[in-house]
Amino acid sequence: MVKLKLLRPFIQGKTFRNPAGSRATAAPTRPFILLNPANATPHANYHPTQSAELMHALTSSVAAQKEWACTSPSHRSSILRRAADILSQNIKALSEIETMDTGRPVRETECDVQEGIECLNYYAGLIATAPHGEMQRFHRGNWGYTTRQPLGVCLGIGAWNYPLQGVLWKSVPALAFGNSMIFKPSEYTPSTALWLGECFVEAGVPEGLFQVVLGAKEVAEQLIQSPQVSKVSFTGSVATGQKVYEMASRGMKKVTMELGGKSPMIIFDDANMDNAVSAAMMGNWYSSGQVCSNATRVFVHESIVEEFVEKLVERTKKLRIGDPMSAETDIGPMAHKQQMDKVLEYIDIGIKEGSTLIYGGKRPSNLPNHLKDGYFLEPAIFTNCTDDMTIVQHEIFGMVMSILTFRTEDEVIERANKTEFGLAAGVFTRDIQRGHRVIDKLDAGVTWVNNYNLAPVQMPWGGCKRSGIGRENGSASVEEWTQWKAVYVGMGTVDCPYPK
Ligand code: NAD
Repeated sequence: MVKLKLLRPFIQGKTFRNPAGSRATAAPTRPFILLNPANATPHANYHPTQSAELMHALTSSVAAQKEWACTSPSHRSSILRRAADILSQNIKALSEIETMDTGRPVRETECDVQEGIECLNYYAGLIATAPHGEMQRFHRGNWGYTTRQPLGVCLGIGAWNYPLQGVLWKSVPALAFGNSMIFKPSEYTPSTALWLGECFVEAGVPEGLFQVVLGAKEVAEQLIQSPQVSKVSFTGSVATGQKVYEMASRGMKKVTMELGGKSPMIIFDDANMDNAVSAAMMGNWYSSGQVCSNATRVFVHESIVEEFVEKLVERTKKLRIGDPMSAETDIGPMAHKQQMDKVLEYIDIGIKEGSTLIYGGKRPSNLPNHLKDGYFLEPAIFTNCTDDMTIVQHEIFGMVMSILTFRTEDEVIERANKTEFGLAAGVFTRDIQRGHRVIDKLDAGVTWVNNYNLAPVQMPWGGCKRSGIGRENGSASVEEWTQWKAVYVGMGTVDCPYPK
């Protein structure tokens, strides 16, 4: 059983230095302090990675990738499976670290670790069977073949809401297909990425192949602009994604952009009501609403809206808001104070623009003393919303549900698509043809019929419109993490009309 040593220092609140280049000198910078969102007290801190350390990280990443690209898929596969085993031996401890950084309840973060194990095992299997290329015959015995090659050094940049999932969805396929990865987690939530770095080494990943660098945009920008980086896989907001995409395009780098959303859930009058309410709650309250694919625009058929709202409020009242370290807790705090303040501002705007706040939207008043300073909010339910309202248009990234009513199928499809985003969408109906017909017409990369927000690693994940470019996971990841090479093989003389 492998217990990784990074666990204890994180829990005890020590300082972490210089994870990228263990041999580079520690930097005399001001440490970045990580606050536990449940009580606003520091739980760890770290020093941002400095330019010299970034250079060292790049050089060692290039060298490690060259060697790694020559290893067999079965060798890489066995290392990924070992990493999966280490994760399974540390589920509780790892989920507690993630909860300390993000504030998400341990019940949720334990699921993330389980899904991480699935991710490692999935790619361990996929690289053994993924199509590698094809052979073609040409005239006079000439022939050719195509092969998929690694991209080289890949850069991963993560968001703060699902840090462990983010680093796994990027680093596991990158490594599986023969690349190296430098990963920059969000400055708010770096801990599980650091832990994963140690886990990979323990599993047999060679030194330098996977490295974590710490800091904010300055660190990311230096790496995006490095000619040694071939691909940038980014998760974050649309506004940052645009800047990253623009910077990467100057170096003609391959990109994946996993950005924000304002996704619709459409509930028809024949839907199973309990399922629809469950999905609306999961698609708005889970992770305190800090989920990119959340169904924050809930379109309910006008004939059933009263019953829907009644059941929704009744069940939302029962949610236990509190200590995210407790297995009993349904809703933890927001991940950081700025996010909590932003959500409160949007709730205010919603009220001022004329929608009706029928439940929640305040800071809870009944928390125990040790959680009084935490960034807790009640879920907010708004009715009487219209399509053009700010809370219906903007990605808020918190528990703010807008309920909208509709009459006809054509009308709701048109309104659901009236957004700059295109990440996710869901439909609830018992009419199987309608379910598929409607989902087919919705502008979204990830969709569900009679469910919501499930993301098995076998399915591609990513958005259209301004929600992103490219896909993570599924067989689509072969395209995202490799590049074609065409090889033409001449079997005879070279045809040449020029004089000898
Ligand atoms: P963000 O855009 O503020 O930051 C994301 C990352 O980019 C962080 O690591 C940050 O340090 C870095 N960054 C910031 N400015 C940068 C710059 N100029 N150049 C390079 N890097 C820079 O996003 P966030 O607040 O961390 O995360 C929330 C957003 O992420 C939401 O919009 C959410 O929808 C989105 N998200 C999308 C997905 C998805 O799969 N589509 C998943 C999770 C989160």
